Parts: sequence; structure tokens; C-alpha cells
Amino acid sequence: MHVVVIGGGVIGTCTAFWLARAGCTVTLLERQPELAAEGSFANGGMLHASHGEPWNSPQAVGQLLAWIGREDSPLLLRPRRLPALVGWGLQFLRHSSRSRHQAATLANTRLARYSLEVMAVIRREAAIQDDGAQAGIAKLFRDQAQLEAATRMSELLQEAGVPFERWTRAQLLAREPALAGCADRLVGALYYPQDASGDACLFTRQLGRYCQTLGVELRTGTAVHALVATGDRIEAALTDQGRLEADQFVLANGPHAPRLLHPLGLRLPIEPVKGYSITLDVRGIDGLPRLPLIDDARKIVVTPLGARLRLAGTAEFAGFDDRIQPRRVRLLIAQLRELLPQREHELAAAPSSAWACLRPMSPDGVPIIGPTRFRNLWLNTGAGHMGWTIAAGAGRLLCDLMSGRQPALSPAAYLPARWL
Ligand SMILES: Cc1cc2nc3c(=O)[nH]c(=O)nc-3n(C[C@H](O)[C@H](O)[C@H](O)COP(=O)(O)OP(=O)(O)OC[C@H]3O[C@@H](n4cnc5c(N)ncnc54)[C@H](O)[C@@H]3O)c2cc1C
Repeated sequence: MHVVVIGGGVIGTCTAFWLARAGCTVTLLERQPELAAEGSFANGGMLHASHGEPWNSPQAVGQLLAWIGREDSPLLLRPRRLPALVGWGLQFLRHSSRSRHQAATLANTRLARYSLEVMAVIRREAAIQDDGAQAGIAKLFRDQAQLEAATRMSELLQEAGVPFERWTRAQLLAREPALAGCADRLVGALYYPQDASGDACLFTRQLGRYCQTLGVELRTGTAVHALVATGDRIEAALTDQGRLEADQFVLANGPHAPRLLHPLGLRLPIEPVKGYSITLDVRGIDGLPRLPLIDDARKIVVTPLGARLRLAGTAEFAGFDDRIQPRRVRLLIAQLRELLPQREHELAAAPSSAWACLRPMSPDGVPIIGPTRFRNLWLNTGAGHMGWTIAAGAGRLLCDLMSGRQPALSPAAYLPARWL
């Protein structure tokens, strides 16, 4: 069976890996000159099964109106994007009830846990070195009520297999002395020992090379412009390098999937949500965090990646505009300075690079994985803020569905049929 996978981010590359392992002939198409050059290039690096909560929690939705146009809000809604957001936004609100939000959180958690299990298989087999660590992740709180609410959610996740510890401020400082400079603003932390971290770009590019040894044909610099259908079957992908026929097609092109689906009459609700990161070369700087940290109130993450420190966050509904806005970068830097005031000068002098990109976000905050009404067209997209964490599992799940094998995880919560 010849499968064309469209999109060489972490999701498409993991999908190609499992398909090749299952005996398929795979062609992986990526429009950029290299794999993982867009959404998977410099994300927060967190492998956080503990963080599966979609962004439409009842509390966040209550604050949305107040956040419109506010540059320092965790979720920034650009007023010019509002008209395009109507349909998606209504679905986003519809899924914000307590029961739906909880069901979506558990669906993400199950997939994330499964993913971290099967990611270990990939790491071993492909001998991946991605500056990863198995140190757990600590989530920091500045507000007692928010710590209590997050503790209740973590108790629920614990039942789904994600253990956690609750740390007082003193326990947090004993485990992470780098936070001494901001301790008076923190009330405590939740620590998730089974979470991990790693560089998604290093992972994806190394996996891509390994896939080639399994026979995967990697065609970078190849953009797909359209899919050609006859009846309920996709005949070919039209690319800027010519027409490509295959038995099966997988769309794993992140937030751009709706553009290829729309001419086929499929309206997939995926919204691009922009985020930023800054990567600092911190060689020679002592006293930095040893643990990956999530600052819950600011919605930013700080992740040690070998000799680098990655700072990531911000969520902006600004359409497909992925330009780097200096004021958003300044906001992130100010937030890092606030967390690590005693390292302010060294960090300001460290070589750094900024990046902005688009998360592919579904209205219910759950990835979209599975078949469409075209019998040889499959989707693997919509992973939002969880794409790195769920990539290995999402690829395996889709591969099992395509090969008619019983998946280890029920696919029901992720199927495209809930939207198409
Ligand atoms: C600031 C930020 C921080 C994040 N932090 C984390 C984190 O800590 N942990 C976590 O789990 N997730 C995180 N995420 C989310 C995660 O990065 C994404 O969910 C994930 O990278 C999405 O992967 P993907 O393969 O679906 O998309 P992408 O990586 O965007 O890949 C899609 C690929 O398709 C290609 N493509 C698009 N259209 C075409 C076409 N027509 N033809 C050919 N190729 C095409 C693109 O060039 C691209 O390479 C973060 C995201 C952001 C923005």
C-alpha cells in the first residue's frame, strides 16, 4: 500500500514512521526545505500528559471578553479576527461546559499517556538524542484559589494515570532553588513526575532520517496545492513538483489542513493560534531552573534543553499571520525576568533567537485523527497545545486504523466524524 503523508511536522513524521513500520510504502511531503520548520520548530518542549486541559475551561471563557485586544492577556483575541472566528468560536463556547471540558481533558490525557509510552519505542529504535530529560514538570501558582482548582483537576487526572505531588513554597524551593528570587509571589506548585521534555525539532529531523532507512521517501520543498477526487476516492495530490498518485493520503499539515479540504466540500474547524518562543544559549550561566516549569497564571513555560533554555507561551487569535511582533517577544522576556530576577543580566546578555508559529486548534481542544468520507483520505491534525506530547501516539493510532488493526486506545473521542 502506497501512502502519501502531507506535512512533515512532528505529527506527519511520526505517522510516516509507524506506517513504514507496518509495511507501507510511504512518501512524506513537506513544503519547507526541512522537516519541522513550522509548528514543530521551537515549541515549549514539554511532554506534558498532565496538561491536557483544553483552553475553553469554564473560567477562561468567562474572561474572554475582557481579554479582547489586551496585549498582556494569556489568550489574545485580535478584534480583526472576530468575524472569521464566529463558527469556530461558537463551537469553542459550546464545548466549554464543565462536563464537555472534563471529557475533552480526559481524552487528551489518555492519548498523551499512550503517546509517551510509544514515544519511548521510537526513541530507542531510532536512537534519538533531542536534549530530552525525564525530570518531571512543575506547575507554579501565584494564587491559592487557582492552586486549589488545579489540585482538584490533578486528582481527576491521577485517576486517569497521571500521578502528581503538591509542593508547598518551601518544598518547591528545595527542589528548584532557581526560583528563590520570585518565591514571595508563589503560593506553591504541583509536580508531575512522569512528564518529560525534549526538543521536538531535533526529534522530528532525526526521526525523518531514520524513516529514510526504513524506506520512506522524503520530499521536502514540495507543496501540495490540491487533492483530486473522483467519487469517494482521492486520486492524486497536485504538488508544485507534479501530480502524485497513491492508494491512501494522510493530511498532517497542521493548521493548513482546512485549505486542502475545503474544495472537497469538507469544512474542518481548525483555528490557527499563534504562539512565541525564545531560545537562549545559557552555557556558562549558573543557577538556572533544572526542572521544566509552567507558570500557570502567565501561561508560559520555561524548559531546560541541554545547553539551552526555552521560554514559550502566548496564545493569539490573529489568523494565519505568523510574523514575529517585537512587543510580544518583549512581554515573554519580561515574564522570564520576573521569574528569575537574580539572573536578569546574564540572561539579557545570552545569545537568543525568537520564533512565532501557529498551533492547529480544534474547537473542543481534542486532536482530529481518523477517516473522512473519502475512503482513502485520513486526518491527523488539530493537536493545539499538545502536539509534541501526543505526536507518537496519534501517529500510531492513525496507522492502526488505516491498517485495520485494533488500536490500543479507543479512537472514538478523536474521530473527524464529530465535525465532518
Ligand atoms: C509557542 C508554542 C509552544 C508549544 N509548546 C508545546 C509544548 O510544550 N508541548 C506540546 O506538546 N506542544 C506544544 N506546542 C504545540 C505543538 O508545537 C504543535 O501542536 C505541533 O508542533 C503541531 O505539529 P504538526 O505536525 O501538526 O504541525 P506542524 O509542525 O506545523 O507541521 C505541519 C507541516 O505541514 C507543512 N505543510 C503545510 N501545508 C502544506 C502543504 N500544502 N504541502 C506540504 N506541506 C505542507 C508545514 O510546512 C509544516 O511543516 C506549542 C506550540 C507553540 C506555537
